[in-house]
Amino acid sequence: MALLKEKLDHYRGQLMSRRELMAKDLRLATEQLLNDETTFTDSVDQAAAETHKSLTVQMKNRDRQTLRQIDDALRRLSDGSFGNCVRCEEAISDARIDAFPFTTLCIECKAEIETEEHRFSGRV
Ligand SMILES: [Zn+2]
Repeated sequence: MALLKEKLDHYRGQLMSRRELMAKDLRLATEQLLNDETTFTDSVDQAAAETHKSLTVQMKNRDRQTLRQIDDALRRLSDGSFGNCVRCEEAISDARIDAFPFTTLCIECKAEIETEEHRFSGRV
């Protein structure tokens, strides 16, 4: 089932503003990281700073991933596949898209994949 044009526009707007915000955050975090050349005489401070730095990098990687998901959602908005599950090709519920505009899976597939992941990692 194709989504109405108004709805697609609504989601596109949401995704674009989210993308803009995240891109700005990422730029800022990168600048902070680059400017952060503080050297510590105290090794404890140094360690704390390193931990903070690696946390920032981790966060940035996650943000980058989200950015990619947003880009992907925007692409799917253009090619008309937005709103359909990439796994079973059923329509994803409006409520789910409202909560996660860049989701690619319906709730059932998401649950199934998570169950599988848990099984593989040994956590039942
Ligand atoms: Zn599905």
